[in-house]
Amino acid sequence: MPGRYLLRTFGCQMNEHDSERIAGVLEERGLEQADSAENADLVVFNTCCIRDNADQRLYGQLGQLASEKAKRPDMKIAVGGCLAQKDGARLLERSSAVDLVFGTHNVARLPELLDLADVSDGPVLEILEETEVLAAALPASRRSPFSAWVTISVGCDNSCTFCIVPSVRGREVSRAATDIVDECERLASDGVVEVTLLGQNVNSYGRDLDGRRPLFADLLRSVDAVEGIGRIRFTSPHPKDLRPETIEAMAECASVCEQLHLPVQSGSDRILAAMHRGYRAGRYLERIEDARRSIPGLTLSTDIIVGFPGETEADFQATLDLVEAARFDSAFTFIYSPRPGTAAAGMNDPVPPEEKRERYARLTELVDSIAWSKNLDLVGRPVEILVEGPSKKDPSKISGRTRGGKLVHVSDDDRIRAGDVVTVLVGGAASHYLTGDLAL
Ligand code: SF4
Repeated sequence: MPGRYLLRTFGCQMNEHDSERIAGVLEERGLEQADSAENADLVVFNTCCIRDNADQRLYGQLGQLASEKAKRPDMKIAVGGCLAQKDGARLLERSSAVDLVFGTHNVARLPELLDLADVSDGPVLEILEETEVLAAALPASRRSPFSAWVTISVGCDNSCTFCIVPSVRGREVSRAATDIVDECERLASDGVVEVTLLGQNVNSYGRDLDGRRPLFADLLRSVDAVEGIGRIRFTSPHPKDLRPETIEAMAECASVCEQLHLPVQSGSDRILAAMHRGYRAGRYLERIEDARRSIPGLTLSTDIIVGFPGETEADFQATLDLVEAARFDSAFTFIYSPRPGTAAAGMNDPVPPEEKRERYARLTELVDSIAWSKNLDLVGRPVEILVEGPSKKDPSKISGRTRGGKLVHVSDDDRIRAGDVVTVLVGGAASHYLTGDLAL
């Protein structure tokens, strides 16, 4: 099978990390990365089904690739990930260019499936209902030499009514803590200094292993003890499962970053109940207050959905009130889009799309103004950043992230290299980033 592959990824960090595993599996079989579809013998799409535009992007790109495949019929196209897991054969009906559809549970079998597609008369489809080999056990082709994702669990036992994840990723399965710590030790010996622990709901980590202890807090402490790892992040915790022990561990472990991404989704108790989130807005605010009290300098971010079915102006106002009260450093904001197969997709939705767009604009304006004022508070102060590399925004600068995850663009300086941890004096602020110079 050796040749060149191109991998295109849609969706969340979990998918980005799965793509590192897909690349690792392909490279182990001798494939090398191609820089464009024209130079690729194999194009793999790792898909997402959380948002509508991810499917539109996939089918748009498959349409463009169909003409390339007409010129080079030997080129193979494979589609994996959440959308493939959910839609399976429908994907083949919608695109005749696809040679292989695989899901979220069989990445380990990708080379064999590609061999099968090579000799098969028609497209190959394999969707499994359960994971045979946890992707975490597969080789990974990491994008960064000093920063890595580490999967701690896959799947989710919750039932948020807008979310398709439980039906495509299955029930929650936690990795053994010893495997996670071993992986972190290996990464540290390879030069990695920052790990991001990944799970759909990291706060329920280990319930399927033991269930009685605050296991995520224990895990944070174990990873904190790994020599060489100076920054530990995690995503995403569920507000209903954020326990005091986790906040204590965050406060006490020197390597755990002062960063909490806690998706609230709405500030209306009525909408939170309809979303099946399992907490009220007041409880959410209490938890972030506890976290801020225990962890000085905490950076707090969230996810918010606007225009959930039946959201009234009063419900939306409750979201704005919560945003004012919580004063998030940043927020990922989305207009609700129904995902077939979820409970919310069948709900009556009388809110006109233009009203949802207008609410979305009001929300982002508020989120951005708070984010800007919080970033302005940092002007004139020193911050520690892990340098990532050249800035995508301005090639004359280099970029890095604070322990809180804030993006900082720094005037280029010969003394700084990617992977360095340096102190920067913040000189300017925008809603989504800071600027500064190396502190002498
Ligand atoms: S916690 Fe809710 S939103 Fe998150 S993956 Fe599970 S069902 Fe989806």
